[in-house]
Amino acid sequence: MATNEELQAIRDAVTPQGVGIQTRVYADKARNAEIWDVEGNRYIDLAAGIAVCNTGHNHPDIVAAVKDQLDRFSHTCFQVAPYDVYVKLAARLARLAPGDTPKKALFLTTGAEAVENTIKIARRHTRRTAVISFSGAFHGRTMMAMALTGKVVPYKKGFGPFPAEVYHVPYPIEYHGISIDDSLAALDKLFKADVEPDRVAAIIIEPVQGEGGFYAAPPGFLQKIRSLCDAHGIVMIADEIQTGFARTGKMFAVEHAGVEPDLMTVAKGLAGGFPLSGVIGKAEVMDSVDPGGLGGTFGGSPIGCAAAHAVLDVIEREDLCGQAVAIGEQIRDWAEQLQSETNCIGDIRINGAMSAIELVENGDANSPAADLTKSVAAEAAARGVITLTCGVRGNVIRFLPPLTIGKELLAEALTIIGDVIRERAGAIRKAS
Ligand code: PMP
Repeated sequence: MATNEELQAIRDAVTPQGVGIQTRVYADKARNAEIWDVEGNRYIDLAAGIAVCNTGHNHPDIVAAVKDQLDRFSHTCFQVAPYDVYVKLAARLARLAPGDTPKKALFLTTGAEAVENTIKIARRHTRRTAVISFSGAFHGRTMMAMALTGKVVPYKKGFGPFPAEVYHVPYPIEYHGISIDDSLAALDKLFKADVEPDRVAAIIIEPVQGEGGFYAAPPGFLQKIRSLCDAHGIVMIADEIQTGFARTGKMFAVEHAGVEPDLMTVAKGLAGGFPLSGVIGKAEVMDSVDPGGLGGTFGGSPIGCAAAHAVLDVIEREDLCGQAVAIGEQIRDWAEQLQSETNCIGDIRINGAMSAIELVENGDANSPAADLTKSVAAEAAARGVITLTCGVRGNVIRFLPPLTIGKELLAEALTIIGDVIRERAGAIRKAS
């Protein structure tokens, strides 16, 4: 088999640099929270394919469900000859989605596609055009999803013009001095200066910003957005693509705030590694679109739907919400210890198994340590731990392990990352 370097040479020659890759670990095999590369090196996986394999790589139940579905059929197109796994999955998710209002669900393939569809549905429902999202948000790489994304480099640079009528307001981030009131004041100013609320179709928000840096919206803020949407007839969309399926310790992150969104996007963890996304929403809103206005050839693939049923079973049977909370606490203990030893951990953000540390110079929130962050992730990978970085300023190390990782494997990975940080941070020891 070719080596990592040989495959990298092919990659450099024939795949565009625009698809950035974070490691040179060419995967050969993966089981639960471990990946082996083509040279037989073993890695602990704290990325889970960017919050996808919440149930671990190749969970036997998911593999079995997929094999079973493959034996039946792999594709008919739901719009041509519909099938049981799709409609039964819609029924399950309609039951699981937060709130008592009757729900319906639609399935697609990617997260960005789910986001696009929420905007179509919200516009058709409200017969309005404007959409509000947040600075630092990430909603995907298609045109509307890019327009909603609140970070120019690298996601939007050179790709405009984007669809019109998209407005951004600051996301509340206490650590960076943006309070709930600041964000609400910005919204109020937007309504006065740029767009009247009764022209706004939707407000879309990640309950925990993913690519933006793992900042959680305070529950009070999500509740306030809910009441603003109610007051003005605006559709509230929760983008649960990264936060969904037990990742933050609840099935969906909005549950921490007790909020019922009108529409919710799901993808990533939904099908444990198979490409499936969806929109779950209030039936009355979902049904505003005329027949034929939604869908797609591959939307709701039978393989993805079969996998998703097994994923939901595993989440319940193995109490993955409980596991996510335990993972967060283990990361907290480790990170607090490290913070007491060095000056480079500015902030620790624990949202179950969607947790992060923000690296800064000398404890100063305004001095992001992006180079250190990059070098820690690279060195951790060289020592056998795959982590991802994120954040508008590139100085956040995020932890997204499979929820099935287990205490020992996680401890092994954290010890390695801790060693790297102590060395790379120049072992800057705190005075006291
Ligand atoms: N929304 C959020 C919150 C995401 O984290 C992502 C993916 N990182 C997307 C949308 C886009 O999903 P996809 O890459 O499947 O299009």
